Amino acid sequence: MKDSFKKTRKIIIRSPKQGSTPPGRGLIGQAVLALVIFLLLVSAYSLLTGLSGKKEQISLSELASEISLGQISDIVITGDNLDVTFADGSTKISKKEANTALTTTLKNYAVTPEALAKVEIEVKNDQGAMYWFASLAPIILPIIFIIFFLWFLSRQVKGAGMQAFSFGQSKARLTNPNDKNSRVTFKDVAGAREAKEELREIVDFLKNPKKFLDIGARIPKGILLMGAPGTGKTLLARAVAGEAGVAFFSISGSEFVEMFVGVGASRVRDLFNLAKAAAPAIIFVDEIDAVGRVRGTGVGGGNDEREQTLNQILVELDGFEPNEKVIVMAATNRPDVLDPALLRPGRFDRRVTLDMPDRRDREEILKIHSRKKPFAEDVNLPLIAERTPGFSGADLYSLMNEAAILAAREDRTTVAQFDLIRSIEKVMLGPERRSHILSSKEKELTAFHEAGHALVASVLPYADPVHKITIISRGRALGYVFKLPLEENKLQSKKEFLDDIAVALGGYVVEKMIYNDITTGPSNDLQVSTALARDMVTKYGMSEKMGPIALESPAGKPLFGVGVGDKDYSEQVGAQIDAEVSQIMNDAMKKAEKIIKDHRKVLNAIAERLVEVETIEQKEFEEILVKHNIKLKKKKDIEHQK
Ligand code: ADP
Ligand code: MG
Ligand code: ZN
Repeated sequence: MKDSFKKTRKIIIRSPKQGSTPPGRGLIGQAVLALVIFLLLVSAYSLLTGLSGKKEQISLSELASEISLGQISDIVITGDNLDVTFADGSTKISKKEANTALTTTLKNYAVTPEALAKVEIEVKNDQGAMYWFASLAPIILPIIFIIFFLWFLSRQVKGAGMQAFSFGQSKARLTNPNDKNSRVTFKDVAGAREAKEELREIVDFLKNPKKFLDIGARIPKGILLMGAPGTGKTLLARAVAGEAGVAFFSISGSEFVEMFVGVGASRVRDLFNLAKAAAPAIIFVDEIDAVGRVRGTGVGGGNDEREQTLNQILVELDGFEPNEKVIVMAATNRPDVLDPALLRPGRFDRRVTLDMPDRRDREEILKIHSRKKPFAEDVNLPLIAERTPGFSGADLYSLMNEAAILAAREDRTTVAQFDLIRSIEKVMLGPERRSHILSSKEKELTAFHEAGHALVASVLPYADPVHKITIISRGRALGYVFKLPLEENKLQSKKEFLDDIAVALGGYVVEKMIYNDITTGPSNDLQVSTALARDMVTKYGMSEKMGPIALESPAGKPLFGVGVGDKDYSEQVGAQIDAEVSQIMNDAMKKAEKIIKDHRKVLNAIAERLVEVETIEQKEFEEILVKHNIKLKKKKDIEHQK
């Protein structure tokens, strides 16, 4: 195993450091550093050249007269420089005329040979290192400085420069199976029982390939993980590698695609070669839809690079020898846009679907992510799991994290149930915006609007019961009504949809009835409910007039393959759809209007209370309902009605 890892040194493992300094700041920092070094060099230079200047200088004529007076004991000549030592031991410097002997000069100054004889004259070799340095420094130092500066600049662009050399190499990150810290196993993945069951076979093969190969079994080369974002696809792929203890090369589909055509394909080749050298190994291509979309539709001019990359992946998959012990895993949340060639037998023919977690799974996921978090005694994870339908694993992870942050910010050492409850809303809708001050008129209007939703939801039998109403704005919503189904159901019925649409219109109806005017507030309500009504007609066959017909695929209009704007129904049918949708919307509005007229007193009570306290929890809300003779929903009722 160790051996095979040595061969993988070519991989660029991207350290967080590389990308973390913003280029702008780096450049300024480098320039400042270069400047400082430049100043240092300059001062060092002037210090060196100035060294000789420190001593007092005397002129030649002065020197001559001092010699005549017998004040000089010796003179050292270095080139044209004279170091003069006086009889009293002090030293001065002087300069002689170039190309003339000192003695000749002195004679010209009328120094007698006798006086000169008393002076010890020593001629030193000109070629001293110091001399060379002093004479070359003015030329060399600027050159050094320029080289230095260029070096700094080049360091700046080195990241990019290096990339140019390693373009064709894969950028895959390698997870070493022997690294205990980053190792993920099936224990870290909650729920997803079927998926784990499927993948256990792959783990077995990677652990013990001989057993399978000896008996002539053909192990799938490609496994496609499909599921909504945050359902744990990436996590599960890492867990497979962790369970099997093999090398794990991971790369994101978008990393194949660079500015230059051909890079992606060469990266694919490189990646597969690395993995084969490290076999047994897993190659994991995350978000494969970035390269694996249907080819050649011509939408947006096509993308040669993407197609070449995809072709290369197909070639590599086909080129596998059965005994190569490399398994390719890929993840996508858009299996519907993948090129059919990828899904052919012998390629990604094994497909594993990850569902959104149900209540039990959510509880397990919460447990996994609460591992290192100290809990207060009142924490009740089953309750949190119950209150978070529609949360993905990633949402639950961030819920736990938010709760811990809340507790830490309030200087508590344990996470309390209250923290978890608050985090549910935060993850769902973004942080509270207490700073968003509503004017008193806005506040009243928002209160009535939300009360309208809540009231309609409480009266209609198939709508989900209200858990909380608030007019504290969160994210982009001014206020909201928090509804939860009594139980989790995968199937929704036509009656539920119709009631949901009426609830969504509750706010709109109230604004129209009470204020005789409509604000921009309900625009989102209208969008959501109209979309729902349209789906009822075109996808679920829930319209009497249109009958049992699906006019659009469940994933919406297919963008690739069919082409933008193509409809698979006629204009006439389109008009019929529009008529049906507006019929549904109008019926729902009438239903909401009737409820609000009939229960005007309750509406006022809820709205007034909301203006007063801003948030009404389930218990208080139910008390208001009971006081006004509205029957509460119970689990039994719902089951009975179905
Ligand atoms: P995906 O790749 O499907 O978008 P990820 O695997 O990146 O989702 O999941 C994001 C995070 O959510 C994971 O790192 C993990 O912390 C958490 N998570 C998701 N699903 C699960 C699960 N089934 N069990 C435990 N944690 C999960
Ligand atoms: Mg992922
Ligand atoms: Zn609304």
